[in-house]
Amino acid sequence: MRVPMIAGNWKMNTTIGEAEALIREMRPGLDKIGNVDKLVCPPFISLAAVRELIKGSSIKLGAQNMHFGERGAYTGEVSPLMLVGLCEFVVLGHSERRQYFHESNEIVNKKILAALKVGLKPILCIGERLEEREAGRTEAVLSEQLSLSLAGIGSLNKLIIAYEPVWAIGTGRAATGEQANATIGFIRRNIAQLYSESFAQDLRILYGGSVTAANTAEFMQQSEIDGALVGGASLKATEFLSIVKQTSEIR
Ligand code: PEP
Repeated sequence: MRVPMIAGNWKMNTTIGEAEALIREMRPGLDKIGNVDKLVCPPFISLAAVRELIKGSSIKLGAQNMHFGERGAYTGEVSPLMLVGLCEFVVLGHSERRQYFHESNEIVNKKILAALKVGLKPILCIGERLEEREAGRTEAVLSEQLSLSLAGIGSLNKLIIAYEPVWAIGTGRAATGEQANATIGFIRRNIAQLYSESFAQDLRILYGGSVTAANTAEFMQQSEIDGALVGGASLKATEFLSIVKQTSEIR
């Protein structure tokens, strides 16, 4: 049985004060909902403040990125060692990092290895761009992202994958439930080939891309989809709560 997860990626939104207000608004409602892992990923500078405000709660905390090095002359970067003890999860390989910060699969791989080394749980984001989908290359792109990002990683126990078609992120143009389910099924079969059937069956694979309270049910009714990585809709407490609540009711 895979416990579903709803993860909120706040991206480069919220000041510390706004992050505190948002988590204060969400906490009571989220704490009432069971059977779902609830994760929020605020900006780095708000992690400590949000951590204080979720003490004793069932809400989990994640970072949106990190560098792969432990320390050194990398001005402006945040290392895995700095996140240990502060949060449990870290989103890696988000398409916005790949697009705007030129993160390759090789860099994502180094980050996953570095996260696992210090006990952080990575959420690996993969997904095809629109032109790749239209050229019929979706499966080839995802296979390559998986094999390169996971190179040298022996166990997937601590890993979560988020399938996020790039054309669906922040565009209001979500995939359909069937589309997402079929592609996530492909990812799971790919993992079975790279690892084993049991790793594949235990691995949580989330869908991400314009998930809202209005389309959550469509995704959560699908057998392969183990939750969602939510961007824009995770910044509105009532919307995020509704997504989590519907997930708990459906799964
Ligand atoms: C995301 O940030 O990973 C995402 C899926 O964003 P949105 O829900 O806004 O499309």
